[in-house]
Amino acid sequence: MDFIDTTIEAYALAHSQPESEVLKKLNRDTHAKVMMPRMLSGHLQGNLLSIFSSMMQPKQILEIGTYTGYSAICLAKGLQTGGKLHTIDINEELEAMVRSAFNDAGLTEKINYYLGNAIEIIPTINETFDLVFIDADKKNYAAYYDLVIDKVRSGGYIIADNVLWSGKVLMDTNKMDADTKAIDAFNKKIHTDVRVEHTLLPIRDGLMIAQKK
Ligand code: SAH
Ligand code: CA
Repeated sequence: MDFIDTTIEAYALAHSQPESEVLKKLNRDTHAKVMMPRMLSGHLQGNLLSIFSSMMQPKQILEIGTYTGYSAICLAKGLQTGGKLHTIDINEELEAMVRSAFNDAGLTEKINYYLGNAIEIIPTINETFDLVFIDADKKNYAAYYDLVIDKVRSGGYIIADNVLWSGKVLMDTNKMDADTKAIDAFNKKIHTDVRVEHTLLPIRDGLMIAQKK
């Protein structure tokens, strides 16, 4: 399901900051060489993540779900001097491509890239985060939220991607597949969590934006 009329989206893209050469190449390479290139955040959402990051000026960012590194490069944009982005992915096959993209973006020093299961890796990162981007396997969204909430500073943000799951969250619960159920449960969990202010932004596949009080 397209949430935005395609001609409106094209107009929005035509009037937005163009993709940097590094991101353009990464977008192209991901589509040419990697399975499921649709998972890459893309130009418009990438710009939005960069702008959020620039507004927040985070010292420590955690990203769960690196894939080919597109959103990590966008999120790193607003890092304070000396700040770090920690990004985790379980897929070791993408390592060379990801490292080369971080290098092209001049971000090698600013990014800690972890390979493995985020459920096991998150508890080993002893940092307080200003911003967390949840974008890995959908069935673990609630678990990731529980693992990070106490590591986010008061006033910090948790952003989760794909929370509309191509519109499947509108289905009757008894017809939903496991991923859709997990995302719907995650959205309801955030919505009833008194520890955060939140809004569900219907851009692309849906971004849940929660700020810890
Ligand atoms: N954030 C990226 C897209 C991430 S796609 C972007 O916007 O460009 C989701 C990624 O989550 C995939 O690369 C997949 O390998 C990873 N993933 C799935 N399960 C995981 C787990 N248990 N731990 C860490 N990463 C996982
Ligand atoms: Ca995503």
